[in-house]
Amino acid sequence: MIEEKKFSKYLTDVRLSEICRILEYKAKYYGKRYIQIDSYYSSSQECSRCGYKNEKVKDLSVRKWVCPECGSYHDRDINASINILFEGVKKYVKELV
Ligand SMILES: [Zn+2]
Repeated sequence: MIEEKKFSKYLTDVRLSEICRILEYKAKYYGKRYIQIDSYYSSSQECSRCGYKNEKVKDLSVRKWVCPECGSYHDRDINASINILFEGVKKYVKELV
């Protein structure tokens, strides 16, 4: 029998892969580009303003934090969204060159 924690991770991975598959399909359908970033990219921990990596943010209970390097105030999810957008744009630009 699979442990509850492993099974929960399995379900999350399956749901995420299904969401990615649907997004890719819809992007192609509407003639858009689908860019997937590395799933291990630490989007929540990196300051979207200066790039400082804050290891203390690894803990999921940390929802808001101030960058010790530049003083920016971050909401964990919004900061991660900005970093994911930047990462996708970087990947897209690399493909163009
Ligand atoms: Zn910063």
